[in-house]
Amino acid sequence: MTISAFEGLLIRPGDPGYDAGRTVWNAMVDRRPAMIARCASTADVVAALRYGREAGLEIGVRCGGHSFLGLPVVEDGLLIDLSPMSSVHVDPASRRARVGGGALLGALDVGAQRYGLATTAGNVSHTGVGGLTLGGGIGWLARAHGLTCDNVASYELVTADGAVLRVSDTEHPELFWALRGGGGGFGVVTSFEFRLHPVGTQALTADLFYDLDDAGTALRGWRDLFPGTPRQATPVARVGRWDGRPMASIGYVWVGDPDEGRQLLTQYQSIGKPVQQRVRELTYLDLQTQSDDDERHALRRYCKGHYLRTLPDAAIDAFLAQDNNPGARMTLNGGAILDVPDADTAYSHRDALVEFTTGDDWTDPAEDVARIAAARAYAAGLEPYTSGSYVNTIADEDATAVHRAYSPAKLTRLQQLKRSYDPDNVFNRTPLTPSQ
Ligand SMILES: Cc1cc2nc3c(=O)[nH]c(=O)nc-3n(C[C@H](O)[C@H](O)[C@H](O)COP(=O)(O)OP(=O)(O)OC[C@H]3O[C@@H](n4cnc5c(N)ncnc54)[C@H](O)[C@@H]3O)c2cc1C
Repeated sequence: MTISAFEGLLIRPGDPGYDAGRTVWNAMVDRRPAMIARCASTADVVAALRYGREAGLEIGVRCGGHSFLGLPVVEDGLLIDLSPMSSVHVDPASRRARVGGGALLGALDVGAQRYGLATTAGNVSHTGVGGLTLGGGIGWLARAHGLTCDNVASYELVTADGAVLRVSDTEHPELFWALRGGGGGFGVVTSFEFRLHPVGTQALTADLFYDLDDAGTALRGWRDLFPGTPRQATPVARVGRWDGRPMASIGYVWVGDPDEGRQLLTQYQSIGKPVQQRVRELTYLDLQTQSDDDERHALRRYCKGHYLRTLPDAAIDAFLAQDNNPGARMTLNGGAILDVPDADTAYSHRDALVEFTTGDDWTDPAEDVARIAAARAYAAGLEPYTSGSYVNTIADEDATAVHRAYSPAKLTRLQQLKRSYDPDNVFNRTPLTPSQ
């Protein structure tokens, strides 16, 4: 079994590298593809796709392998692995980056930071550019520079019939709309062209910790500061256990001159009396990698998220209801996310005020049911206040999940586009399928 005109690496069950090649970030995913095609070029992607279609194999496309459901890994199917296509070319003069479809966020950050540049990327550097961008992309620069997908100038896309298209606001604009937050499923993106911004190389984080009994007042004060928050700052609140002690923190992440960032601190300090405060100056690259170890591979994982348009006191109380719940985080959205008209992209929740996420990790499969149930039950406490959820945090095989991620009108438009660009549903390993 070979693929004609394929110059990458083909890996089958029993070959060296097979188990590594089918392993993704969430250790709960344990599926065995019939073949892994590690593609080195756009031509390889075209050849692998043609082969998979002719052989009648279900096809998955992998970039960073961080989707919670392990979407790219198909049982008995073809896994098109883009990870060799991880090049990042930065042109500091035009402030553009050309990024391979299999690149990780860390490579993009490192390439751009050589020139003091960056674009919005997620908070963990081993996440894939591919899946993150196709679902929207939220990070510490989103309030200043918009979603990751707002910063894409063009895509190179291999469609289900093997055509190689350049997609931009003037070339295949309908596809451009869909690729900006639609969650994928329209083809294989073999390269992304990103706009970069001169953000400098520095950052600052501030976290003020409270015992849970005092945290309600602190969280309300944190929320009441939202309206005057500069775009360089992303307010963050967390709840969880630190050294075994249940606590909550309020604070913010600042990208840019730390001295300017520090000026916000007095407002946060005036909210109450924290039991501890942690203020750190760090490089932007350290900021972007500081959670890499906590979010490491090889653990069993579950996540549940909500967007909230408002943050009433009752939602804060639900956030703080800790008992034995897993930890959680809330971050402020808004800013430049709202500069892009809602109709311009498939992404559907620009009007969210905050994003809530909870999640857990563990190693023993015997704990799967209880861990997942606890996270779901905790997140259900915030359900009455939610306006939907982020497609990239879907961790349940639930046909209704996509309805929380997209407005009805955008979902209908996405489904129509899917039918015209992928009528045979070749790229079915996405949250979006025509039947939903
Ligand atoms: C530790 C961790 C941290 C995260 N942090 C953030 C964050 O800060 N901000 C944020 O917005 N999200 C974040 N996420 C969510 C993340 O955006 C999604 O998990 C996303 O799907 C990851 O993309 P990936 O390429 O790594 O995943 P993959 O599993 O490789 O792919 C996910 C989906 O995208 C498709 N896909 C990937 N690349 C391509 C491509 N080149 N062409 C066509 N289809 C493609 C796949 O087929 C699959 O359907 C985080 C997730 C994790 C696990």
